[in-house]
Amino acid sequence: MEQLTKFLSENTHIHYATPQSPDYTELRPGFILNVREVPAMIVRPRSAEDIAGLISVLTANDLPFSVRGGGHDMYGRSQIHEGITIDMREISHVEVEVENLTARVGGGVISMSLLKALEVHGVTTPHSVTPTVGYTGWAIHGGYGLLSATCGMGVDQILGAKVIDARGSIRDADETMLTAIRGGGGAFGVIYELKIKVYALNQVLAGAIIYNPGDLGERIHHFNMKYWELKEEGIPSRLTVYQSVMNGPVGKSLVVLFMWASADTEEGQKWLSRISSWGPVAVNTVTVQSLADFNAITDSMVPKHTYGTMYSLCLHQLTPEVLDVIAEHAPLQPNNPEVIFTAHEVRAEALKPSLTNVFINRIPHFTIEVIPMAASAEKLEENLVWAQKFIAALKSTDPRNFVQSNYPPLTSTNDLDLKMYYGSYYNDLKKIKQQYDPDNVFKHTVIRL
Ligand SMILES: Cc1cc2nc3c(=O)[nH]c(=O)nc-3n(C[C@H](O)[C@H](O)[C@H](O)COP(=O)(O)OP(=O)(O)OC[C@H]3O[C@@H](n4cnc5c(N)ncnc54)[C@H](O)[C@@H]3O)c2cc1C
Repeated sequence: MEQLTKFLSENTHIHYATPQSPDYTELRPGFILNVREVPAMIVRPRSAEDIAGLISVLTANDLPFSVRGGGHDMYGRSQIHEGITIDMREISHVEVEVENLTARVGGGVISMSLLKALEVHGVTTPHSVTPTVGYTGWAIHGGYGLLSATCGMGVDQILGAKVIDARGSIRDADETMLTAIRGGGGAFGVIYELKIKVYALNQVLAGAIIYNPGDLGERIHHFNMKYWELKEEGIPSRLTVYQSVMNGPVGKSLVVLFMWASADTEEGQKWLSRISSWGPVAVNTVTVQSLADFNAITDSMVPKHTYGTMYSLCLHQLTPEVLDVIAEHAPLQPNNPEVIFTAHEVRAEALKPSLTNVFINRIPHFTIEVIPMAASAEKLEENLVWAQKFIAALKSTDPRNFVQSNYPPLTSTNDLDLKMYYGSYYNDLKKIKQQYDPDNVFKHTVIRL
């Protein structure tokens, strides 16, 4: 620790906080408040050179550290008890090259800031549904979102990366390291900057359709029967329909995020009319708007910090058996506004990797998220009981419908079987880890190889 303190005293532009610092309580919390790990220090580098210096001091002195971007890991894995948090939030630049449809983005930028910066140039890129999620942390593990069906997953956008490696050297990731980063996450170094693809898409037709609560179970069944019919006909890749159950303005109801990712909004309106006819609509906020504006609305639907955790499952289909479980348990969702259930489909361009990567779940599937969140620790206990019963009932459905593994960022480390998840990529990934980080310097990560 002495050497680290010395390094920081020689680099006074690097802000840091210890539990005694006045801003520590503001800097420490991520999205989940019930994270028990209390870091000994939070350090906020501002450049690649700062990170390189830090990694050298930390590794030379055997100090455990983690990397934090947007702080939205649902299991608090970006903080370690009595360790050092490398907090990337001050590295949030966005430099756009419109003519090449690329951008260089700092490793600590959050989706919302990224979209706003891209909008100035008339471009956008796939991003997380919740805008406060760190872009890098989202993209390097896979990255689902409302543009995945149109433009691909987060990993499919990564063209390059500037990384601080295990020796504390700043390097441009070569193809091997890039392949591993695209789905293997932060296990190969600290990502100072990503070079990503951007798309000339100024405006979309997007918003939320909130159906009248009515008989919620019946509503869910009917909606999914209609969705199934649509699937049989073929859903255009420009259209994304993301279903959830939330406690919204009209009570507990089926809330569908609608995204028509095309300038041809007339065609989009036809799809909107069709989907809106699947039940009596209480509120419809779908309108032509920029993605940054739409993001600001979704931002208002999710708390900034919360007590909670998440249970997730990837299923090939929402079979009648699965829908029966959802229709039984979703209506029992506790009434506080933080609790959410979602089911979204991975389809179309999200299944077609355009760059070499190790993101494995490239088969059509639904990701189910049961998210018990609450404003207090006491309230969370009650919500957990509901969520655990719900996920247990889903897990007791036909196992042949389960995708071989769940999505790592949405799965606790104990429940994550990386061999099963990566399948044939697992040994290659281990070899790449051995090549770039033989001493496992980057071990406090979501993907632990
Ligand atoms: C409210 C909410 C909504 C979400 N919505 C979506 C969604 O729509 N789609 C989706 O796919 N996922 C979603 N997620 C999951 C989220 O994408 C992942 O948990 C992601 O890893 C969070 O990134 P972060 O930077 O915000 O989190 P952090 O907790 O800061 O980071 C998580 C991990 O990412 C790695 N990491 C982050 N930045 C860097 C960096 N610069 N260099 C090296 N490693 C880094 C580290 O290993 C770190 O432990 C959501 C999560 C929450 C809580």
